[in-house]
Amino acid sequence: MNLSDTIVAVSSPEGAGERAVLRLSGADALRIADRVFVAADLSRPSAWPTYRAGPGRLEPPGAGLSVPAVLYVMRAPRSYTREDVAEFHVGAWPAVTGALVAGLMRAGARAGEPGEFTLRALVGGRLDLAQAEAVMAVVGAANEAALRAAGDLLRGHLSAEVARVADEVRGILVLVEADLDFSDQGIEAAPPEELARRTGAARAALADLGRRSRSLETFGGEVRLVIAGRPNVGKSSLFNRLLADAAEAGTDADRAIVAPEAGTTRDEVRAALRVGDLAFVLSDTAGLDETADELAGKARGRALEAIGRADLVLVAMDATAPSHDWMAEVIGLVTSPMVLVITKCDLAPADAARRWLAERGVRAAVVATSAVTGRGLADLCDALVRAVEGGGVDRQAAGPVVTARHRAALEAAVVALARAARVARRPRGAGELVAMELRESLDALATVTGQRAGTDILDAIFSRFCIGK
Ligand code: GDP
Repeated sequence: MNLSDTIVAVSSPEGAGERAVLRLSGADALRIADRVFVAADLSRPSAWPTYRAGPGRLEPPGAGLSVPAVLYVMRAPRSYTREDVAEFHVGAWPAVTGALVAGLMRAGARAGEPGEFTLRALVGGRLDLAQAEAVMAVVGAANEAALRAAGDLLRGHLSAEVARVADEVRGILVLVEADLDFSDQGIEAAPPEELARRTGAARAALADLGRRSRSLETFGGEVRLVIAGRPNVGKSSLFNRLLADAAEAGTDADRAIVAPEAGTTRDEVRAALRVGDLAFVLSDTAGLDETADELAGKARGRALEAIGRADLVLVAMDATAPSHDWMAEVIGLVTSPMVLVITKCDLAPADAARRWLAERGVRAAVVATSAVTGRGLADLCDALVRAVEGGGVDRQAAGPVVTARHRAALEAAVVALARAARVARRPRGAGELVAMELRESLDALATVTGQRAGTDILDAIFSRFCIGK
């Protein structure tokens, strides 16, 4: 495939539509447009400014056709491929578009390969590889949820997070290499424990990214909704009541255990919850409190992890608890948007809790509920919908969308960084090994964004594209 050719392909979806789009991209696109297009005002397309559209007739040589068309001119670099692009929008008659493409080829264009427009966007630096894959997913998206997931990938959340870790690893590598360069002079650029600590932190950040990420293949646009709060405030009861009410409305769901002792929910329990058109994955977590034993400590760690992955957090506070000492801490742990739920309102009025929140300037929706009487649950569902639809919830901030290929690359980088951290702890003479492992992790990360994608990866990805994209 010669990327300096000017290419042509039908870039509208196949089959009967109202319009077909014939796209030319490359250095000769506008010269070819001059040869094949008679503008209604008789101007030459090559003299048009970028983003101009105008009517005329498409009359490619040897096609024996003159077809009404609208021409769009997008000049480099402000086009999808970052090359000069001319698009002819014509009526969609399959026999005619075939003849027009053949005519455009006679006028000097080559037939575009599958995915070649996107490959050119990649090469031109407009997209990185993760985004190019997203284009393919957008094109193939079967439903709106899949489209949303692909759109998120296209916006570059994953690439941005990977780039941050890669920058840090590159910084560590510079230190290690400086150490190697100056080792004969007895100068130490960074002590081994410092290198090991920073490498370990980069590994942890990447492992965390992997845990938070969602699979493009299965992501349906669900909102991760996590219930958090102190032990015994009624989190599990709320979880069950929300699911029971949803089940009545027709959704099937698993249940959490509700029990009177504090700290029953040792692990995160999840269930699918539908509210109107919105899909949530609801998680119940262990209570957040000062931890007495090791088991509770682990559960607390998992609860914190779940909160870190949440798109939206339901912070539960007990209307009957006279002191809310730990509430401030719980609220402080939440970095995602939150909705505050005052529980057990059948036992005590919500006023004290509301006052407490107002005094501390907590700015979030507050809903008074009772899992026993069902009071406030409809309001809670409304508050959830408002939180999501109000635009405050970014389903990518907490966990970017990844493909199976990205996941494998992230795992390879995590493994290499773990080895690097282990070797870095050795007191002397391990510099070469550390540098090697760090480079390996950088290579793995670079395959995500494509700075280092081998031709085999590119072939595998672009062979799945359709022509015209
Ligand atoms: P968690 O530890 O936060 O998950 O709390 P649970 O859901 O296990 O509830 C702790 C205790 O409070 C249990 O005895 C529940 O029956 C009780 N409880 C929870 N929600 C309510 C409520 O809305 N009203 C009343 N009266 N009791 C509740």
